[in-house]
Amino acid sequence: MTRTVIHGGAVFDGIARGSRPATVVLEDGLIADVLDDGSVPAADVTIDASGGTVLPGLTNAHVHLSFMYMTGDVSKVLTRGDADLYAHAFRVSKVLLAQGITLARDMAGPRGIHLAVRDIINDGRLLGPTVIACGSPLVASGRHAWSVCMEADGPDEMIAAVRQQFKEGADFIKLMASDDPVVAPDGTHTLPGFSAEEVAAAYAEVRRHGALACCHVMGEEAIRTVLDNGADIIDHGHYLTDELARRMAADGVYLTPTISSYDVQTTHPRFDRGQVWADRHTPLIPPHKSAVRAAIDAGVKMLVGTDTVGCFAEEVALLREAGMDPHDSLLACTRWPAEAFRMADRHGTIAPGLRADIAIVDGDPLADPYALEQVRQVIKGGEIYESAQLVADERRLSKNIWELALSPKSADAG
Ligand SMILES: [Zn+2]
Repeated sequence: MTRTVIHGGAVFDGIARGSRPATVVLEDGLIADVLDDGSVPAADVTIDASGGTVLPGLTNAHVHLSFMYMTGDVSKVLTRGDADLYAHAFRVSKVLLAQGITLARDMAGPRGIHLAVRDIINDGRLLGPTVIACGSPLVASGRHAWSVCMEADGPDEMIAAVRQQFKEGADFIKLMASDDPVVAPDGTHTLPGFSAEEVAAAYAEVRRHGALACCHVMGEEAIRTVLDNGADIIDHGHYLTDELARRMAADGVYLTPTISSYDVQTTHPRFDRGQVWADRHTPLIPPHKSAVRAAIDAGVKMLVGTDTVGCFAEEVALLREAGMDPHDSLLACTRWPAEAFRMADRHGTIAPGLRADIAIVDGDPLADPYALEQVRQVIKGGEIYESAQLVADERRLSKNIWELALSPKSADAG
């Protein structure tokens, strides 16, 4: 038996309100105990977390292992070869782990590369968070991001496409339920991607497989259509109305807003997307922020996801700026995603019997969300990694993606 004891820090366990001083005991890859009596049992490894906070391993609910943190023209991603994208995904996986992320949901990549990388990580041959992944998202012919998706038109093709994705190894299904970033002439909507009949057919088939029904969606009509047909998690959510937000809360539908990606970083010069890109995305910012506020007011449970260029801590900070309680904003990157993914029996809280997935950060992320960028150690399945060591090589490379993974604030300081 191998025992690790973490003492001296504040523990945010994702169960009790806030954090408290406690000792966390890990044994053989699982959480064995949380001690509130101040005792520090003998152990093979003892970690002094003084001045820091001990959290459940973090979850990034919207990643793209094969192309996140890439700079320049997005459409060029597909012209890169498989080896190039694999190499990139391997680096991203390690960088995510270094950020304290022990669970990630991959929302698409070209040619199934992300599925293969998921298997390599989950099989224990590559450092990275535990990954769940969709295959190719389903998209109506020629619509949003069709070149990284599987095109399907009409209910029969939707059913066939869902079956094909499961055959290829998808854990869940993602629909491109609306366009992006096309703002319709009236300025209030984006265009739905599928008819109600198509969404209904696809999601009914997803349920038959017992899997999660997910989607990229923005615009009132498209959001209403996916909610009508049983979406479990919706991502982005621009133009979410108060009425639809209340419905999401009542139905237990989660929202991954990805505001850091859409509202801040996608137009940041360091990602080099150009002026045309900035002009197309900037109008989406105000409706996105009001959608997030509507979701918070309605009590929708939200998930922290950074998408291609967002910053994890900044996403948490933006949720707080929009009115989310700091405690809830930490649940949004720990307990809630584990619940949303139906993995709460293994992930998301610090409780006996769950996987020994832990992030130890400097300072107090309840007081300052950017403490989440000060990761000391990340523990996955009981294995302890020093964050600085994981990224030491990245920092030496000229294409330093670690720098792009952090908010400009921390990247400049580091
Ligand atoms: Zn995405």
